[in-house]
Amino acid sequence: MSDKPKVGLYWCASCGGCEESVVDLAEDILAVVDAVDIVFWPVAMDFKKSDIEAMPDASIFATLVNGAVRTSEQEEMARLLRRKSQVLIAYGSCAHSGGIPALANLYEKERILQYVYHDASTVDNTEGVRPQAKHSENGFAVTLPRFRATVRSLGQVVDVDYTIPGCPPTPRLLKEALFALLGGARPPKGTVLAPDTALCDECPRRDSKPVDLHFDAFGRPHTTLVRDDTCFLAAAVPCMGPATRGGCEALCPSGNMPCTGCFGPTSRVLDQGAKMMSSLASNIGAEEPEAIRSVLDTIPDPLGTFYRYGLATSLLRRVHNSQTDSPQS
Ligand code: SF4
Ligand code: SF4
Repeated sequence: MSDKPKVGLYWCASCGGCEESVVDLAEDILAVVDAVDIVFWPVAMDFKKSDIEAMPDASIFATLVNGAVRTSEQEEMARLLRRKSQVLIAYGSCAHSGGIPALANLYEKERILQYVYHDASTVDNTEGVRPQAKHSENGFAVTLPRFRATVRSLGQVVDVDYTIPGCPPTPRLLKEALFALLGGARPPKGTVLAPDTALCDECPRRDSKPVDLHFDAFGRPHTTLVRDDTCFLAAAVPCMGPATRGGCEALCPSGNMPCTGCFGPTSRVLDQGAKMMSSLASNIGAEEPEAIRSVLDTIPDPLGTFYRYGLATSLLRRVHNSQTDSPQS
């Protein structure tokens, strides 16, 4: 085995986009492979959990974990990789703040299982079968990971050293972060490895961002024509840029879509969704409660708009949950 630093990559509750973003390094991946030994990357190569268990503790230089934590297996892998790694990095929005999987925290576990295995129109399950955590057949036992009651970020399960934000992170951010760490740079623990400035600062539309906002109704990207040199807020289309950390190269506003907030908040923002909601709500042009409500009604999915990536780590965290996790759950 070479003496190059060892690097691991793992996914939990993830769509695969973060794994894809590693491949998006294109030819730069050759420089990465040259600098490190990849000792664990199950999505790309045949590694087993036992390979990691056999390694001494802290023998992996850095592990990037993407995806949120929903199952007992993901918890177990997060704890194992924490133990084996000197540096554990939450890679992407889902590991950072729960991401899109954490929108499932709007529903209780039982309701999700009921819908997925029984009620969805695409389901044909006349016998009402549900996967069980333990099943025996012909003397053989089969086990499945347990489905937890709440989706959590990686940092809500284990100690995380750094975060590379984004849905997914850009190849540039990944490359810069990896080579900075390999070069001996160790920012303070807990650092989010992206600029601590709002996205608006790097947005090509920033010169048209209004100083005074006034909303009589909100528009949506597919119903409102916004010129490519105009701030979305000037056209009354909610854009999360003012409450969101920069570093993504303003890919969405450059592609004629408002920012949806995947880089999470800057260090000065306690709750990204609350900040954006209070900023928009304080500029509504109506006075009477009924009139205010009809302006707000033009945002059909407030939670999905303002907490699309950060519900798990927000002040709200989840809807009231009467189901809690037990060893059997
Ligand atoms: S952060 Fe985005 S790209 Fe990465 S796993 Fe989550 S949803 Fe997919
Ligand atoms: S379009 Fe969005 S990100 Fe760009 S300046 Fe306006 S509010 Fe900020």
